[in-house]
Amino acid sequence: MNPFINLGIRHDIVNAISELGFENPTPIQEQSIPVLLTGSNDFVGLAQTGTGKTAAFGLPLLELLDFEVNYPQALVLCPTRELCLQITNDIKNYSKKMNNVNVVAVYGGASISDQLRQIKRGVQIVVATPGRMLDIINRKAIDFSQVRFVVLDEADEMLNMGFQEDIDSILSTTPDEKKTWLFSATMPTEVRRIAKKYMNEPFELTMGTKNTGNANIEHEYYIVRARDKYAAFKRIVDFNPDIFGIVFCRTKIETQDIAEALLKDGYNADSLHGDLSQQQRDKVMKRYRDRSLQLLIATDVAARGIDVNDVTHVINYSLPDEVENYTHRSGRTARAGKTGVSISIINAKELGKIRQIERGLGKKFVKAEIPTGFDVCEKQLFSIVHKIHDVQVNEQQIEQYLPRIMEEFKDLTKEDFIKRFASIEFNRFLDYYKNAPDLNAPLEEGRRFERDGERAPRGEGAGKSEYTRLFINLGSVDEFNRGDLLGYICNQSKISGRTVGKIDVKGVYSFFEVPNADVEKVMGGFKEAEFKGRPVRIEISGEGSSERREGGGGGYQRREGGYNRERSGGGERREGGYKGGERNASAGGFRDFSGKRREDRGERKRRF
Ligand code: AMP
Repeated sequence: MNPFINLGIRHDIVNAISELGFENPTPIQEQSIPVLLTGSNDFVGLAQTGTGKTAAFGLPLLELLDFEVNYPQALVLCPTRELCLQITNDIKNYSKKMNNVNVVAVYGGASISDQLRQIKRGVQIVVATPGRMLDIINRKAIDFSQVRFVVLDEADEMLNMGFQEDIDSILSTTPDEKKTWLFSATMPTEVRRIAKKYMNEPFELTMGTKNTGNANIEHEYYIVRARDKYAAFKRIVDFNPDIFGIVFCRTKIETQDIAEALLKDGYNADSLHGDLSQQQRDKVMKRYRDRSLQLLIATDVAARGIDVNDVTHVINYSLPDEVENYTHRSGRTARAGKTGVSISIINAKELGKIRQIERGLGKKFVKAEIPTGFDVCEKQLFSIVHKIHDVQVNEQQIEQYLPRIMEEFKDLTKEDFIKRFASIEFNRFLDYYKNAPDLNAPLEEGRRFERDGERAPRGEGAGKSEYTRLFINLGSVDEFNRGDLLGYICNQSKISGRTVGKIDVKGVYSFFEVPNADVEKVMGGFKEAEFKGRPVRIEISGEGSSERREGGGGGYQRREGGYNRERSGGGERREGGYKGGERNASAGGFRDFSGKRREDRGERKRRF
């Protein structure tokens, strides 16, 4: 028997939802349906989208209303046209085995006369966005005097969008005795206030923690100069070859500009914003869901409620004004128990906003460095290598061509062959990034420590030449992140974590800064140290301490002379580095997108 029966839902509804694949109630449905079915409580449900909240209120409404009469008994208010249509459609689906259930969607940007006609014909459930609803009320085209239930869905978003007054006016036309059910992904004070205003001792249900967002999301920010923003963004994308992301902009124009520039640069990207017709939006969303699009460039409103699994990254190309919007944005990733990264690309002046969002979320953000051109090339190279290694070979299809292929390659050694294969994509990146400049924005000396987080010393010597930059031959390919490396350094050399300055984890090596006075101790600590059977090497980096002395001179320098070494075991050899200089702006980006997420070796946490 379908467990919805035990929750008190009648057979014809259960049959309909069974056909939709609802075999078990979601947690919010399990907990809210019995409460709402009593019809006697106000209710506050703190739940993200994608938790099944539409059915959580939709099914009780279908149980509680009288469908033998044709006047409005329930009003569902929601922030966007998309959501309005989605809720209407869902309720219609749940009730498709019932008789005379009339649901109307009332939203802006579509013919009002159609909506008025439907209302006139008689409806029991009105699902509406506030602006159009108020318009219809002002025309005296609807009578809400018999409304028994009002649902405020995504209440936080409605307030963010400035619907407070409209909601007040709409609700003033409904009876005082009605019950109000409020759903919200977050609970800012404004939502608390409306809960207080419209409700009487509501039953409260929290799914997940308040306002903290999803624990599986890592939050990172990058500081760049305004003029380098797009280049920095592309570099981040290139550094994450399997990215499947949503990029948030503040305006429609910005989404379009970025999508166009990305397309021109050879990426799979398109924009989603309010000026598109419904048909155009559906088309974009279908391509994104099918993964023909790698990057969806969207405004907050257009991306509201996007319910796509496996989004690996949310990129805040422009920061939102409200913490709540940031929560909504970042909540597009790390769905269904997966992990995800929310990245913000900011200029130095916006650091205060990051701190504000951190406080709102109760979570610390990680300051990350825009990867160097070299890092990107390295990452891409290994992405290609992994892809070649993991590719599914269709033996049947390829068999007929094998003799010709073998003939073609017969003069090449295995090593030559592998080198050529891996170079196909890699060369493009090498070419594009060979003169790539450092895109990390310089901060004034005093603020550099702030961006390094709490590890940086704040004493007298901070920011002067009392620090030495050290090189270590371990990096992200050894599965170190900055925290891991800090722990490893402190463990090995017995120095306090608080004295360690900036840590910059690269692919096969890293840099870290320690007080001059600790250099010997660190070198001594690593003497004869081994990591996975391989000697660990620490060297004083030629450029490090002078870089600190240069005051406002800025972020990390790429290696000018470069290192010349071999990584034992891995067999990667690096010769020289790339020199800074102007980048050729027209080169293309990474086109190849398998659609499958690979665990990037360089980004996973490691254990000692
Ligand atoms: P919502 O949070 O209401 O937008 O629901 C998110 C998605 O989950 C929608 O596609 C629903 O159709 C689906 N869904 C809701 N409840 C259930 C359930 N009990 N079992 C399976 N799918 C569900």
